[in-house]
Amino acid sequence: MTMNCHQIVDLLVDYLDGELAVEQEQRLEEHLENCPPCVDFIESYQKTATVCRRALTVEMPGAVKSTLFAFLRTELTSTKP
Ligand SMILES: [Zn+2]
Repeated sequence: MTMNCHQIVDLLVDYLDGELAVEQEQRLEEHLENCPPCVDFIESYQKTATVCRRALTVEMPGAVKSTLFAFLRTELTSTKP
């Protein structure tokens, strides 16, 4: 059984936390090999999610802060018409 994109989104949070069952994780990774849009989605999600989670749990270290600002600046600049 191949996973579809919707299932990937559902499993994404657990996947990034390393809490998926091995079998689920393998199927998710199989899907990613054939679905570049999902890879893009995960990468951008991963960037923001990691930064946000850290910001909520601990005080934001300077390096993370500047990475976040650089990321946001790039995003805002690139999405401008
Ligand atoms: Zn997909």
